[in-house]
Amino acid sequence: MDFKFTEEQEAFRQEVRSFLEEELKKGTFKPGCDGWIQGYSPEFTKKVAGKGWIGLTWPKEYGGQGRSEIDRLILTEEMLRYGAPAACHWFADRQIGRSVLAYGTEEQKKELLPQILKGEAYVGLGMSEPEAGSDLASLKTRAVEDGDYYIIDGQKMWTSCARFMTHVYLVARTDPDAPKHRGISEFIIDAGLPGITISPTIDITGSEAWAEVFYDGVRVHKKYLIGEKNRGFYQILGQLDYERAGLERLMGNYPLLDAIIQFTRETRRDGKPLCEDRLIRQKLAQLQIEFEVGRLLTYRVVLVMEEGRAPNVEAAMAKAYCTTFEQRLASVATEILGLYGQLIAESRWAPILGMAPHSYLGSKGYSLQAGTTEVLKNIVATRGLGLPTE
Ligand SMILES: Cc1cc2nc3c(=O)[nH]c(=O)nc-3n(C[C@H](O)[C@H](O)[C@H](O)COP(=O)(O)OP(=O)(O)OC[C@H]3O[C@@H](n4cnc5c(N)ncnc54)[C@H](O)[C@@H]3O)c2cc1C
Repeated sequence: MDFKFTEEQEAFRQEVRSFLEEELKKGTFKPGCDGWIQGYSPEFTKKVAGKGWIGLTWPKEYGGQGRSEIDRLILTEEMLRYGAPAACHWFADRQIGRSVLAYGTEEQKKELLPQILKGEAYVGLGMSEPEAGSDLASLKTRAVEDGDYYIIDGQKMWTSCARFMTHVYLVARTDPDAPKHRGISEFIIDAGLPGITISPTIDITGSEAWAEVFYDGVRVHKKYLIGEKNRGFYQILGQLDYERAGLERLMGNYPLLDAIIQFTRETRRDGKPLCEDRLIRQKLAQLQIEFEVGRLLTYRVVLVMEEGRAPNVEAAMAKAYCTTFEQRLASVATEILGLYGQLIAESRWAPILGMAPHSYLGSKGYSLQAGTTEVLKNIVATRGLGLPTE
């Protein structure tokens, strides 16, 4: 067992930090919570692409860097630590590019991967529907063959990054007569096709990071079906592991953790710095313990990926733990800040850039998106502990 990074890995971390420090100085971004999912900055994504940091682990023959999963972990850890606005490329880099690499045709790889690598393809995730969330296989959106095309009709909910996506990863039913898990296929389609209507979902934080997307007779060429027709559900399962696996489940709100500790150093109450208050110290120390546990769980996921295995149970465990950590972080920060801590970023009286209320409200959804905590615990119970399915 070796918990140390190599010299090269430490040097890479330093390189990423220097880049982010420089961009902060230039004012390209301000640190914020949820930058990976809500931070829209084509300019930043272009710069990351210019560094070769999108598709870091993808094979060189497809324009990637062929680097290790550990290097990618370092890159994403630093992006999250700085609260960088990486939403334009995050999903394509994390899971959709991998899916194309695993199941796509050569033509699909040559068309889509270079666009992702250049930071020009922003892919939203169109899986959930009003009647299909945890039980995704119940989805009703239909893709019906018509010559060289599929005609797509249906409705998706919670499609991420829909307001700026150039492409949408879409799952649809291609065989209505087959058992529900066996009639589903995956597509990656142009988000600007006629018949697609995007209706933003304004969430509890006031953000429009997600949307309902309606598909009304959308004609999609068959060349955009990914992998095997009707086997999509099994392909999705692998992809969901990557969606759950990352450090963003632990560090989506890292700027808040950093800021609240700093706040207790700089703020005096009753003549004493807050960080000398026993209760506050205990709470911060407890958060730090939980953060380190979460970090080990997420590092383990990366090691499993580095061994070429699918991080199924490991990712489920890490996401279930880490998202509840982020919820506790938001609660503790709100308690420490007191009433002013409830002011949103737009208020000039809001402490620490109004991150606490954003995080408090936003973090409620963390244990739902990409699989609810209950569903993840089912995975741990059945595939981890070998308990029977219900
Ligand atoms: C902030 C946010 C972002 C999202 N982003 C996306 C996105 O980008 N793309 C996308 O396609 N979807 C996205 N989703 C949708 C998300 O995947 C679903 O909300 C999630 O899968 C749960 O589905 P549901 O909301 O229909 O709840 P349901 O599936 O109806 O679940 C309701 C409750 O029942 C529990 N439950 C359900 N089944 C079981 C079971 N078998 N055992 C135990 N308990 C169970 C659940 O845990 C939950 O508490 C997002 C959701 C949120 C909140």
